[in-house]
Amino acid sequence: MTDDEIPEILLVPDPRLRAKAKPVGPGDADQVRALAPRMLDAMYKAPGIGLAAPQVGVGLRLFVVDLQKQETPAPMVFVNPEIVAVSEEIAVREEGCLSLPGQYADVARPERVKLRYLDLMGAKREIEADGLLATCLQHEYDHLDGILFVDHISALKRNMILRKLAKDLRLKAKA
Ligand code: ZN
Repeated sequence: MTDDEIPEILLVPDPRLRAKAKPVGPGDADQVRALAPRMLDAMYKAPGIGLAAPQVGVGLRLFVVDLQKQETPAPMVFVNPEIVAVSEEIAVREEGCLSLPGQYADVARPERVKLRYLDLMGAKREIEADGLLATCLQHEYDHLDGILFVDHISALKRNMILRKLAKDLRLKAKA
């Protein structure tokens, strides 16, 4: 990947989406600083509100988020995130994923979440989130463990979505 190239987003069933990502170490700092802006480019281009490193074929614990509520970009980069607290209250929100384009399902997750992480400069940070951001952070965090939003729904619904995705992608390949 060259510096100005926008990375390709992997699609289900690529096995790299199912692997557990490794913590970012001091030796990965240069790679991560180069990768994060490229991941943001790919996310904005898609467009999406979150993208995890495994989705671009990099097995490191890193994801980017921007809910894009304002006109000006507000990118957030999360390195080695850890979920340190979740609320008992559950919220159900419709989710989609750039690795399962065009597929959506209602997913139940804790309504609020507290995350510890490092920023791109390696500084320790903490964030408490609710609403869409809480959903997004948990969705992206899952990607680092090879978990997809369809793993949170019934097997029946999951199989329907995966079949529909496979069909959509076949049609797209033919078009
Ligand atoms: Zn996703």
